[in-house]
Amino acid sequence: MTALAAPLVALDVAPRLGRLRARLADAGLDALLVTKLTNVRYLTGFTGSAAVLLVSPDDALFVTDGRYTQQSHEELAAAGVDVEIEIGLTGAAQRDALVARLAGGGRLGLEDNSVTWAQQREYASAFAPAELVPAGTLIEDLRRVKDAGEVDRIRRACAIADDAFQALLPRLGTGITEQAFALELEFAMRERGASGNSFDPIIASGPNGSKPHHVPSVRVIGRNELVVCDFGCIVDGYCSDMTRTVSVGDPGADARHLYEVVLESQQAGRARVAADVSCADVDRASRDVIAQAGWADAFSHSTGHGVGLEIHEAPRVASTADDTLLIGDVVTVEPGVYLPGVGGVRIEDTVVVGRAGTETLTLTPKDLVL
Ligand code: ZN
Ligand code: ZN
Repeated sequence: MTALAAPLVALDVAPRLGRLRARLADAGLDALLVTKLTNVRYLTGFTGSAAVLLVSPDDALFVTDGRYTQQSHEELAAAGVDVEIEIGLTGAAQRDALVARLAGGGRLGLEDNSVTWAQQREYASAFAPAELVPAGTLIEDLRRVKDAGEVDRIRRACAIADDAFQALLPRLGTGITEQAFALELEFAMRERGASGNSFDPIIASGPNGSKPHHVPSVRVIGRNELVVCDFGCIVDGYCSDMTRTVSVGDPGADARHLYEVVLESQQAGRARVAADVSCADVDRASRDVIAQAGWADAFSHSTGHGVGLEIHEAPRVASTADDTLLIGDVVTVEPGVYLPGVGGVRIEDTVVVGRAGTETLTLTPKDLVL
């Protein structure tokens, strides 16, 4: 068995509901309606496309529809999550089950960052006389701190992306287009066990590299030019994220200087990542190097972001962030410089803040010239 197929450390889903419950009172909530599917998955292990979870201090009700009768019972049982499952064959039946459970009103928290205006209006009428209140990021805050099983999935997703990319590097010099390389990368990651991309790969060659989120085009990747490759995959729901900038042949002195500056910036930010360090400090460490080289305005995004069940999650690693890194945070460090008409360089690692130090999960070497 290869390392990419070895068993993963088990996920520890069951205690998560208890951790959430312990925070309900402090948040001033009598109950919380969890409607964001990523958060439902986090709390129950359910991976389907439709479900709502009503969490109160003493119990929880999981409501889904007839497509997920078998799957929901299997997944919640496998996760060891002991909550009542209600199958509602219509939207009205699902809502009635939730309303009946909440009988008595009180303060009902909604996930205000993901509930739509239309949903809010519907809930306000359905759950009356309950008072609807914004619950903020209660569950996202819990999700920040990854346990061993979660880190193992992100580590595996990073290892698959590493292996796929390194296997495909020789293809860059064969007259392949950005689109074709992106497709081969996706295929290679899935072949190695990923369930899909964590986002559509960004393959930006030559002048296209000046657009941080360039969509792969039919442009043929040339020799002696910068190619920004930003991609990741998903393993059991968890994402990876890595950027490497490479060149087939020497891209010239200016491009090599640009690369060296971004590499130094990336290393400076990476070196600051540790428990109890503010995210703004990590951003500053990366940003200062690029500013000193005269490209402050060409580093046009924040330095990084959390990675987990979502490709972008808390905490933000930005100059305006007020978070402090915690043990269990998984974040990226990804400074870049983008020069319209010329091209760009970005270098990104995904790292985990551990008790014994910070571990880099993306291990592809940072050699510019292939
Ligand atoms: Zn990325
Ligand atoms: Zn990223």
